[in-house]
Amino acid sequence: MVLIKVLLAASRKRAIKCSQCAIMYSPSDYSTLYKNKKLIYFQYTAPKKKHSKVYCHDCILRVVADSCTGESQIQLKIIDEEYEWDCDFFPSELGNGDSPLDDFF
Ligand SMILES: [Zn+2]
Repeated sequence: MVLIKVLLAASRKRAIKCSQCAIMYSPSDYSTLYKNKKLIYFQYTAPKKKHSKVYCHDCILRVVADSCTGESQIQLKIIDEEYEWDCDFFPSELGNGDSPLDDFF
């Protein structure tokens, strides 16, 4: 089970940056993009890491897949302020246009 948390713009004071691709927005810009369903940042703590890092929706699944190498199916739990979603993520299907995050957009 892999937990990824939706990063809420309101909880941030400083610019938010993806740890993978370095895409960066101010909290107010992120808030607008998030409301318009253009961008979601997630917080994810990789196995054996103490601290969570922030990743954009384009990068998060690749990062999860890379940190769970060898697993053909990963159970994802996506948490935002109100809901939790459980979904199955198949790393081998990454990049074929079918993303478990599609439900958010
Ligand atoms: Zn990114």
